[in-house]
Parts: sequence; C-alpha cells; structure tokens
Amino acid sequence: MSAQLTIHVGGEWRASASGATREILDPVDATAFAVVAEGGAEDADAAIDAARRAFDGGRGEWPRTPVAERAALLRRVAGLLRRDREELGLLESRDAGKTLEEGRVDVDCVADAFTYFADLVVNENGRVVDAGSSDIHSVVVHEPVGVCALITPWNYPLLQASWKIAPALAAGNTFVIKPSEITPLTTVALVRLLTEAGLPDGVANVVTGPGHSVGARLAEHPDVGLVSFTGGLASGTKVMRAAADTVKKVALELGGKNPNVVFADACATDEGFDTAVDQALNAAFIHSGQVCSAGSRLIVEEPLRERFVAELARRAEKIRLGRGTGKGVECGPLVSAEQLAKTEEYVASALAEGAVLRAGGTRPDGPDHAGYFYRPTVLDRCRRHMRVVREEVFGPVLTVETFRTEDEAVALANDTEYGLAGAVWSGDPGRARRVAGRLRHGTVWINDYHPYLPQAEWGGFGRSGVGRELGPAGLAEYRETKHIYQNLAPRPVRWFAG
Ligand code: NAD
Repeated sequence: MSAQLTIHVGGEWRASASGATREILDPVDATAFAVVAEGGAEDADAAIDAARRAFDGGRGEWPRTPVAERAALLRRVAGLLRRDREELGLLESRDAGKTLEEGRVDVDCVADAFTYFADLVVNENGRVVDAGSSDIHSVVVHEPVGVCALITPWNYPLLQASWKIAPALAAGNTFVIKPSEITPLTTVALVRLLTEAGLPDGVANVVTGPGHSVGARLAEHPDVGLVSFTGGLASGTKVMRAAADTVKKVALELGGKNPNVVFADACATDEGFDTAVDQALNAAFIHSGQVCSAGSRLIVEEPLRERFVAELARRAEKIRLGRGTGKGVECGPLVSAEQLAKTEEYVASALAEGAVLRAGGTRPDGPDHAGYFYRPTVLDRCRRHMRVVREEVFGPVLTVETFRTEDEAVALANDTEYGLAGAVWSGDPGRARRVAGRLRHGTVWINDYHPYLPQAEWGGFGRSGVGRELGPAGLAEYRETKHIYQNLAPRPVRWFAG
C-alpha cells in the first residue's frame, strides 16, 4: 500500500519532512487500509509559516475578502459535501468504526455547519456606538485573529473539524488543522474540498501526525494566534499550558461524564417508560459510547430502578454489533486497541468496587468481531465515589445510580469535575425545568438526549472546557474585537501647560 500525501502546506500536498508514515487501521478487523504521512514539529512549522504568509504577507487576500464572498465559498463547500455524502460517509464509517448511517448523518451535519456559519457571518456585524458627541464617530468592528491551530479527536473527525474550520474561515482566518493521528482521512478529504471550492493557497493547511509533536508545536508556536482543541482532559491541559507563554486565545472542548436523570413520573405510562428506556439506550451506546456527551451515568428514581434497568439490560443485550456497512448493524467497534483495553479495565474496576453486571461485560465472540468490539454494558448499583462513575470511559459502559428526592438527583448529577451535558426526564414540566436550571452542564436536554442545533452554543462547564463552539459565540471565538474611535474635530488637549 503506497502512502498518501496527507500534509497540505501552502497549497501543496506532500509527504512528511522525515519521510515517516503511519498505517491507518480498520477497527472492525484491526487491519491496515491506508497509509498516511506521519508529520512532526518541522511540518507543523512549515504549515504555520504558510498560514502566516497567507494571512498577512504577500497578497493576504483571504482576511481582506469581502464577507459575502467568504460566505459564498462556505456555501460552495456545503454543496460539495452534499455531492460527496456517500463517499465521505463511508470513509468516516471505516476510519472511526461507526455505522454507515451515522457517517452519512455526520456529513449532513458538517454541511449544515458550513451553511450556518455562512449565514451567521454576514449578519453578525460590528456596531456604531453612540459616543454622545457629534464630534466623535465610534465603531466596534470584528477582525480575524490570524493563524488558528485546530486540533481534533477521533470520535467525530469530520464533524469536529467543521465546527472549527467553518467559523475560522467565515471570520477570515487562515489555519493549520491537525486531525487525530488514528482518524485523519476525512479531514484530508475536507481540505481537498476547500481547495476545490476555490480557497486560496495557504489558507487551509493540514498536518497529519501525533499530538506530542505536531499538536504540541501548534499549541506553543508564537505565530499562532488561537488554538482550538477538542479532545481529552489530559491533552487539553497540556495545550492550555503550552499556549500560555504566548498568551494565545484558547478554546477547549474536553470530555464529559454526563448524567441522564430519570424521574419515575416520566414513566407513568407504558409509552413514557418505553421512550425513556429507549433514549437512555441511545444516550449511552450510540457510537459504542465514544461520544463526549454520552449519557453514561443513569441516575434513576429508586422505585423505578429495577423495572427500568431490567428493560434496559434486555435491550442492550440485543444491540447488533458489526461492520458499519453490515445489514442491520447498530453499533461498530471501539476505535482502537487502547480504547478497548481502557474499557475492559474500567469494567473490571467497577466490579471490584461492588457494581453489579446486568448486561455485557465482555468482548463479543465470532469471526465478525475480530477487531476492537465490546458488548454494551450495564453496571447496576454504582456509587458516586467509584472510578467508573467519576472518570470518562469513552466506551459502551452505562452506570446506574439511584435517588429518592429532587435535591438528591441534582446533587448526584452535579457531582462531577466535568460539566458538558446532561438530561432530565420528567412528566412534570415544572420539575423538569426546575432541575434543568440547577444542572451545572453546558447542554441540558429535557425529555430528550443528544440533539444539538448549529445555532445553539455547545461547550462545557467546569473541566469540560473553555469557550463555546457553534452559535454566535462559536464565531466570536475566531474574531478579535476592535473599537475605532474617530475624532472629527481634533483640538489640543492642553493637559501639559508648557
Ligand atoms: P486526545 O486528547 O487523546 O486527542 C485529541 C487530539 O489532541 C488528537 O488530535 C491528539 O493527537 C491531540 N493531542 C494529544 N496530545 C496533545 C498535546 N500534548 N498537544 C497537542 N495536541 C495533542 O483525545 P481523543 O482520545 O482523540 O478523543 C477523545 C476525547 O475527546 C474524549 O475525552 C472526548 O470526551 C473528547 N471530545 C470532546 C468533545 C466536545 O465537544 N467536548 C467532542 C469530541 C470528543
């Protein structure tokens, strides 16, 4: 298998400076299906240099391109994504180990993100300030930050890239993106589409390679004005530290340990019960739980526990695992051997700490499951101090805790260092809204789980991150704000008498 040229610098596709390559594994059977360039710090430097020149050297045309033209380019990209939906969906499915349908939906969401930021940027303008004097003209304007470093994870490679690339370009920045080293393929494909849509050379650069070299260099480099990172807490804190010396703008989207709170009154009817169980299953196990907002902590009212958990476990056992393109397949594998080992270790530690296994708990058998598969797992009788309840597993593992009062439910749901997302299920609208208002999480769903809107901000409280993606705040991250104060009748101040 020959290596693809996956490093894009100043409009040119190239191999890494060192010549190193990396095999990309299909998580379904752990075999290599592509080989990419394995970049290093030297490649990051070259890409930053190209992005810097495209921003302020030479013609520096992108930051000065009228906003309507930038928006038009983003819309063209959305069109190209829709044209290539099937191909990109398939590639994402294979690279990240998700079902083909999830891959397709991701591409739709990516196209929507480009369209949303195209619409937003032409409407989120500066403003004229009333300075209270006809001699003064005062305006607040928005300008691009400069070179943006965009670092993304492996669970939603294309989607996470689009939440950064679309607003960065809309605002007039140039960028260097570093996708996760294990799932770089769709990001490379997206950058090819940006070129096809007519983006000038040097505006969009990509360096495939590891976090400790390429990512670390991007975070510390003095010519980078902003680093936007999505990934785990441990890497995020390193990025923040590396960015501190040059006082970069930093946006972090980190992990979550997300509560799904179910009151018994949500399940007063059979239909209500069925919906709450079905959504709890979806919250925890879609994409094998490798979702930052996965509802991995079920917090259920005690009298409902046994009935709810029994049905949940019954349905979890029936989830069909396999290759994402397989007929009837509902879940793929975990993304890597590391992720599988980590999941197994968390389940073992939970059982050692007294959790009761109600479903899953092992790898599935059979020749179709040679890769990194793990069965959807339900752990009952969990307690808030257990590691499996406190730390992000990022696998198909659902813990069950119980409460007796509303206050207790809120206290449990907020007892986490994270604060990304959570849900409350209740048949009482007043209670649902009251509890939602008390949850310290960046997204709270009432009687739902997982949907997001490009026009609504996404991000975390606490150690789930800094800043927001999507929505107007997701564009503001990529802009500097400047106040221009113009004196229309200048006169001496005469503060100094001499
Ligand atoms: P990770 O932290 O291991 O890696 C994320 C990215 O950071 C990768 O591109 C990696 O190469 C890079 N990286 C690693 N070390 C680095 C360093 N020292 N400097 C700079 N870059 C570095 O995370 P992951 O395992 O790829 O992704 C899973 C994590 O991402 C989970 O914790 C999940 O919750 C989080 N996530 C969060 C969101 C969100 O919106 N909050 C969305 C998706 C994923």
